[in-house]
Amino acid sequence: MKKVAKLLTGLALVLSIVGIALGQTKPIQVLMVGGGGSHDFDRWYRQEDTKTLESTGDFQVQYTDRPDSIAIYLKQADILILSNNQPIDEKGQAAITKFVEKGNGLLLLHAAVWYNWEDWPAYNLNYVGGGSKSHEKFQAFKNYVVNPSHPITQGVPQKFEFQDELYRHVPDSQAKGIEVLAIGQSKETDAVYPVVFTVKHRKARIVGITLGHDEHSHQHEAYKALLINAAKWVAN
Ligand SMILES: [Zn+2]
Repeated sequence: MKKVAKLLTGLALVLSIVGIALGQTKPIQVLMVGGGGSHDFDRWYRQEDTKTLESTGDFQVQYTDRPDSIAIYLKQADILILSNNQPIDEKGQAAITKFVEKGNGLLLLHAAVWYNWEDWPAYNLNYVGGGSKSHEKFQAFKNYVVNPSHPITQGVPQKFEFQDELYRHVPDSQAKGIEVLAIGQSKETDAVYPVVFTVKHRKARIVGITLGHDEHSHQHEAYKALLINAAKWVAN
């Protein structure tokens, strides 16, 4: 097995050198983490979002739902996408912290902007800038782009609508702050909540997207544009 791995590494190296010689740019290496409850992570993150990102030719996605493999895969990653709500062990938490504190990009999707982990309060404070503890029932609601000049909202309609869970996202006043790029409006109370936002960090680019429960979002053009734009933006 070791020999095969060595051969494959050698082959990948040769191919990347040939690519550089031909003037091709190397795709952005993405580690996407899924897994946990209430969602079909395999179908909508591992399959659909990977397809959306890789269809641009700009990304190569490695997906895992094994938190104990995060530290290993992060060594090859340019950016990290978290969609999971399953617990991440101490080693995984440390690897993610090191990755982000070095200035690497982080994109948080749907379940990953929840208050999931009591043993990791620094995650919500530093990387989500707050979080969600509840959501409205699954239904169609309107989303509005409030910052149309940001790279993440390019090509996204000013108003878009699909069925999803509107997270009641609350910024933490102790955190460094978020910049809201799009909001979702409650059907029940008319209250608005951030659905797409950047999280202030001294070094890393961080984006949170609270949308993404199932096929209604993952197959929607607005969600796909946001996913691609956000992944590109955090990679810079
Ligand atoms: Zn959900």
